[in-house]
Amino acid sequence: MNQSARETLNYNAPDENGRFGPYGGAFVPEILIPELRAVQAAFEESWTDSEFRNEYLNLLRTYVGRPTALTFAERLSNELGRGKIFLKREDLCHTGAHKINNTIGQILLACKMGKTRIIAETGAGQHGVATATVAAKFGLQCIVYMGAEDMERQALNVARMQLLGAEVRAATSGSQTLKDATNEAIRDWVSNPTDTFYIIGSVVGPHPYPMMVRTFHSIIGEEVQDQLINIADIETPDVLVACVGGGSNAIGLFYPFINSPEVQMYGIEAAGEGLDGRHAATLTRGTVGVLHGAMSYLLQDHDGQITLAHSVSAGLDYPGVGPEHSWLKDLGRVTYLTETDESALRGVSLLSKTEGIIPALETAHAIAALEKIVANVEHDSIIVVNCSGRGDKDMQTILNHT
Ligand SMILES: *Cc1c(COP(=O)(O)O)cnc(C)c1O
Repeated sequence: MNQSARETLNYNAPDENGRFGPYGGAFVPEILIPELRAVQAAFEESWTDSEFRNEYLNLLRTYVGRPTALTFAERLSNELGRGKIFLKREDLCHTGAHKINNTIGQILLACKMGKTRIIAETGAGQHGVATATVAAKFGLQCIVYMGAEDMERQALNVARMQLLGAEVRAATSGSQTLKDATNEAIRDWVSNPTDTFYIIGSVVGPHPYPMMVRTFHSIIGEEVQDQLINIADIETPDVLVACVGGGSNAIGLFYPFINSPEVQMYGIEAAGEGLDGRHAATLTRGTVGVLHGAMSYLLQDHDGQITLAHSVSAGLDYPGVGPEHSWLKDLGRVTYLTETDESALRGVSLLSKTEGIIPALETAHAIAALEKIVANVEHDSIIVVNCSGRGDKDMQTILNHT
């Protein structure tokens, strides 16, 4: 066992200041510090309260459709020639992706804190839809900030959010995309701290969000633990694979296995047009800085200005990444690889034709990386891939590229 593997045996980040090694923290306007403390206190109290836990688990079962299946991908495994590949089917969740595990948890917390107004940021609109969905379910006012450019590109998701009763507000500053929508949401929160709960969409933002969102998504890996015992009579898989945008579906799968050093973990970032062109490979090519309340690897220029990310999959198209992934990269606990737009499109086709499952373009990055990953495993290794979402939302993009 090497040095970093030994260190991760008793991995228990973040510390009380929300630091994952040097990363994370809470770099926010002072007015929000008491709000973040209140969110943290409510979260810690709720998570140890069996009534809250049962309500959360009951909603996951009766509304989201959990537990999601663990599907043996026999034809995909044969096609790749090594390893037994299983798919964790987050694509079967209500609204079509893992994101709702988190929005359910956060809206329950908002209700518990007596908040009446929900705000969220969204890029492609997937997190906006997942937030508008739970706001409708609980009858709370919901405002979603979205870049004006993104609203045009993702008109269907804007219509979905509006149908669900949310107000979608255009962010018209900067590049008019996700980072600008996030700035607007933070500005809103600063102006309305008492009645508003900010539902953040990934393991990003200031402490306690990365820890909290990780906790709400850990149900993914916990179910895999149970399912592997039932299906294959094994305690731990050999390899876990997930795509990384902000990193929430990946950490949800990884976290329950983080102190099991025999489990290899791969996070797959978007290399877009290639690492020398426009991409979203934050961990692979980024440098350390502060964005949206946390220290992490970022895509930025020499002056510290955030550079525009690019990926064919809107959900991976973010110039930051969760602080915990930055730490797991430095520790060497998780290996981060990249796949281009082109190989992701091939990944969509591969999974569709071998398994009858059309994956989201985000997920397809994880599928595409399997070819490289299986080259380094034993013939009968158990590989679990997080199928983070379904591809229906991406059909137009897929058609435009074929
Ligand atoms: C949003 C999204 C992602 C990327 O977000 P993470 O926080 O990295 O999980 C991945 N897959 C799908 C289907 C998504 O909707």
